[in-house]
Amino acid sequence: MDIRSQIAMVFHLDKCIGCHTCSIACKNIWTDRKGAEYMWWNNVETKPGTGYPTKWEDQEIYKGGWEKNGDTVSLKGAGKFKGLKNIFHNPHLPVLDDYYEPWTYKYQDLFTAPEGNDQPTARPVSLVTGEHVDVQSGPNWDDDLGGSPDYARQDVNLDKLTAAEQEAMFQLERMTFFYLPRICNHCLNPACVASCPSGAIYKRGEDGIVLINQQRCRAWRMCVTACPYKKTYYNWHTGKSEKCVLCYPRLESGQAPACFHSCVGRIRYLGPLLYDADKIEQAAAAPEDQLVDAQMDIYLDPFDPEIIRQAKENGIADSTIEAAQRSPVWKFVKEWKLALPLHPEFRTLPNLFYVPALLPTMAKVNDGVYDSTGKSLWNGVESNRLPMRYLASLFSAGNTEKIVAVMKRLMAVRTHRRSVTVGDTSREEAAAALEEAGIDADTADAIFRLTSLATFDERFVIPAAHREESIEMLESTADVKGSTGFGFKERPQRGL
Ligand code: SF4
Ligand code: SF4
Repeated sequence: MDIRSQIAMVFHLDKCIGCHTCSIACKNIWTDRKGAEYMWWNNVETKPGTGYPTKWEDQEIYKGGWEKNGDTVSLKGAGKFKGLKNIFHNPHLPVLDDYYEPWTYKYQDLFTAPEGNDQPTARPVSLVTGEHVDVQSGPNWDDDLGGSPDYARQDVNLDKLTAAEQEAMFQLERMTFFYLPRICNHCLNPACVASCPSGAIYKRGEDGIVLINQQRCRAWRMCVTACPYKKTYYNWHTGKSEKCVLCYPRLESGQAPACFHSCVGRIRYLGPLLYDADKIEQAAAAPEDQLVDAQMDIYLDPFDPEIIRQAKENGIADSTIEAAQRSPVWKFVKEWKLALPLHPEFRTLPNLFYVPALLPTMAKVNDGVYDSTGKSLWNGVESNRLPMRYLASLFSAGNTEKIVAVMKRLMAVRTHRRSVTVGDTSREEAAAALEEAGIDADTADAIFRLTSLATFDERFVIPAAHREESIEMLESTADVKGSTGFGFKERPQRGL
């Protein structure tokens, strides 16, 4: 066992109001610069929809992530050597049109326009060329367009649904959408790290944050192709790639990243998880329907005395272990099994987990009319407005059982709390829902508390910085043959 510590995250999608405050907070701090105008290290998409860059989830187009090769995995498109073939033309790289051409407005024209019969206007101009642009798209262009033919119906996850399910999903009275905020997942098996021919991208030893060394980056842009989440970006002005740094200077001083701190819906949780690095290759190469379980198996119980002993032996500080015990991520992901990774089939083992949205799925509709007269408050998960298969395509590599189990737990918590506070659900009904979901009333209360009433300190558990005890995982030693981001074949060196 090779125990390490990883800063991990949970986004509770039922709480996201799509305000984009997180994106703006990040933009103001990190990407308000020349060459970075089009970058949104944090972006918020509407689902169903095509996202940013458009259709980023479609690896037939972008060739990102890993593919299973027997007992191991290899990069799908880019690689240290595989990608060199495309050095002069990489057909899998997203172009500016896939993101959008960033623009501003000629506000000065409002003041300097000569007197005339018409109201002066501020025309949009490109932030890249300075020329007038006819704005056709933007990073959140599909905001709230949950039923539109150009966006919602182009969502690649719909390919997993039957024609009847798709038809039902877009009936006017059933139409629904939810928001999906996204940042870099600081993956355990990062394709970006493995693809970089310069060894410029590395996973920080002490907390697993993935960073790009700007001095070593040589503009190969393999990382842009390799990241299946399209969370590395090329800065056309500096000629270097950039990505989310999880506000590490803030973390080192005990503060939450800006997008977490500013989140209006308080959907974001952050804390360390202990994990076994020896299990990464096996988990990344698990059969598709077992990917979620295989990833969950990597994370270790921070209360287990043997785990604690071995973690200390591996140089993990007491304060980090204590933070892992208080981590809200541990609770949501492992204890309560409510949060799932986004697109685990990309096999990068992402460390950002999502509590799937229940709200759009639970409203009771009978013959197209909302029904609050029935005996039970909500329909069963099978008659939800969003097909389980759609959510499974997003969060469990198609394993609908995982989604149904999460939905039942979320519904049980609500039914239980309604029986306690509102009284329109009987105690018996609540007890039956809890039993079906496999949780007790105390657990439901704890889930309710962390979801709805948690304080700042409960949502963000940030271990004190211990750089002197860090375990540097030198990705530049990664096994090139196996193209592994983590260097499974060669044991990573310990100590600085
Ligand atoms: S592969 Fe993972 S760690 Fe690398 S940029 Fe993409 S999301 Fe981030
Ligand atoms: S700030 Fe929070 S609530 Fe607002 S869009 Fe971002 S994640 Fe959602």
